Amino acid sequence: MTQQIEVPVLVVGGSLVGLSTALLLGHHGVPTLVVEHHRGTAIHPRAAQISQRTMEILRTVGVEQMVRRRSEEQFVQDGAVMAVETLAGKEVAWYIANLNEGVTDVSPTLRVFITQSLLEPLLKTRAFELGAELRFGTDMVSFEQDSEGVTAVIRERDTGQTATVRARYMVAADGSHSRVRETLGIPMRGHGVFSKSVTIYFHADVAALLRSRNLSVIYVLNPVLRGFFRFEKPFNSGFLAINSVGDPAHPVTDVSTGLTEARCLELIHAGLGVDDLPVAIDSVMHWDASADFAETMRQGSVFLAGDAAHVMPPNGGFGGNTGIQDAHNLAWKLALVLNGTAGPELLSSYQDERLPVGAFTTEQAYSRYVTRAAPYLGTTGMQPVENDLNVELGYCYRSAAVIGGGADTRDTREHENPRESKARPGTRAPHLFLERSAEPISTLDLFGRNFVLLAGPEGKAWCEASEAARATPPRVPLIAYRIGVDGLTDPQGNFAEAYGITGSGAVLVRPDGFVAWRARDSSEVCPEIIGSVLAKLLCRA
Ligand SMILES: Cc1cc2nc3c(=O)[nH]c(=O)nc-3n(C[C@H](O)[C@H](O)[C@H](O)COP(=O)(O)OP(=O)(O)OC[C@H]3O[C@@H](n4cnc5c(N)ncnc54)[C@H](O)[C@@H]3O)c2cc1C
Repeated sequence: MTQQIEVPVLVVGGSLVGLSTALLLGHHGVPTLVVEHHRGTAIHPRAAQISQRTMEILRTVGVEQMVRRRSEEQFVQDGAVMAVETLAGKEVAWYIANLNEGVTDVSPTLRVFITQSLLEPLLKTRAFELGAELRFGTDMVSFEQDSEGVTAVIRERDTGQTATVRARYMVAADGSHSRVRETLGIPMRGHGVFSKSVTIYFHADVAALLRSRNLSVIYVLNPVLRGFFRFEKPFNSGFLAINSVGDPAHPVTDVSTGLTEARCLELIHAGLGVDDLPVAIDSVMHWDASADFAETMRQGSVFLAGDAAHVMPPNGGFGGNTGIQDAHNLAWKLALVLNGTAGPELLSSYQDERLPVGAFTTEQAYSRYVTRAAPYLGTTGMQPVENDLNVELGYCYRSAAVIGGGADTRDTREHENPRESKARPGTRAPHLFLERSAEPISTLDLFGRNFVLLAGPEGKAWCEASEAARATPPRVPLIAYRIGVDGLTDPQGNFAEAYGITGSGAVLVRPDGFVAWRARDSSEVCPEIIGSVLAKLLCRA
């Protein structure tokens, strides 16, 4: 008899984004079933540049320090992103001299380098600890929707055994070739495929060629090939990703078809700039370089996340990070809708918020691809390259789950310098060190599970209004702090300025650390106000 499984959320795909989705839903107490085609986590390193935003998210679920420790075993951190003609030869450009230069003030955490193959097992373990059921070697073979949810058939690859899963919601984290997206008939928009690229994994002792330079990503730009190297400690292994070969003005962009081992060796030597260094090929991964995003990220009870929703070239290291942000945006909303605290309409804000960010980030990755590795594509219609920090931390949301700051003020910013957002509704609440029991604590460490109201020292009435809202059904999870009073001190006296309020104002922060609403002072405070703000934000009639 076919097994019947009931679960609130079915996650299709158990790679970087599927595992993050399960982990973040688990953090909010939502049980998930994850099905993953492969029998284990990623074997290819792929993503390695993990943004500060991703590290902030991992910090809220208790794995930041573990990820940092493992990353240091694998890579020398704080490396440069630069370009050479060959590793042994001339340097062409330095895009980023040190991965964390100039960004340490904006966050309690740092960018790290750790490969997807090392990160995924850490996410998997934590997702499991938080209650996710993980079925590897299992395909989701079909699904249908009705007004109450999704019914999917899953099949274990080794046994052929099938089961029927009934879920209220389904998250498709099934990658760039998403079958779920295809089945739903959701089209992609963008630049299409511009290279049939390859990543060649190999062993070779390159330490001498690095000449003590600390390099995270090394673009190779020469008449033979355009691509990039990445090397792991102790610098005897890494990969060369290749996007095009031959004449840079009229390149061959299908690097993949007919690629032999001899040709791989030739290309690696052409990138290294030495012909006699022993090189052993480990494997070759074939992938399409493209820059596209799905026209919608939701259909009925099904949500697209990660590469299923937006696929971008690796230039900038944005793809996986953007997918983790999708999961982070969706998890708290699903949790509050599933437990009845929020109305189902809250879920519309997922697409309203994430689709523009996904599209913008995809364009930014494309702009980096063109300017760094493929000038032949031309810059007509290309977005100017924005500062990495603005892409990673400065993206802005406009939706019904944000009051003011966006739609209400006709502010159409998609991104900005996170140092300038000053807790404007729709932006990430700024990091600032406060003190608790004489120990430093980041404002960001107050967020992650509940709504949080931060009031200035004269904002007592806001805390009372929060107390009233918390006591009224449906009892939205809400914590209120008066900075400088409720056990949190502000030794530098920076809080009000950093959060764009006066000493009597208040800021309401969502569980994902984004500002939902703000009152600069106490002129409009009344006992019902926080309750009615929450009712509006959470789409409760
Ligand atoms: C060379 C390279 C370097 C990169 N570097 C970076 C970087 O530095 N930083 C960064 O952020 N990103 C980087 N990326 C991008 C990053 O790897 C992707 O964005 C990321 O893997 C997307 O994760 P995902 O979970 O959405 O999709 P995927 O990793 O593609 O996973 C989808 C999973 O779904 C499974 N699946 C599909 N269909 C089904 C089904 N029906 N049933 C069950 N399972 C199914 C698949 O087996 C797969 O494991 C890089 C990519 C490449 C190629």
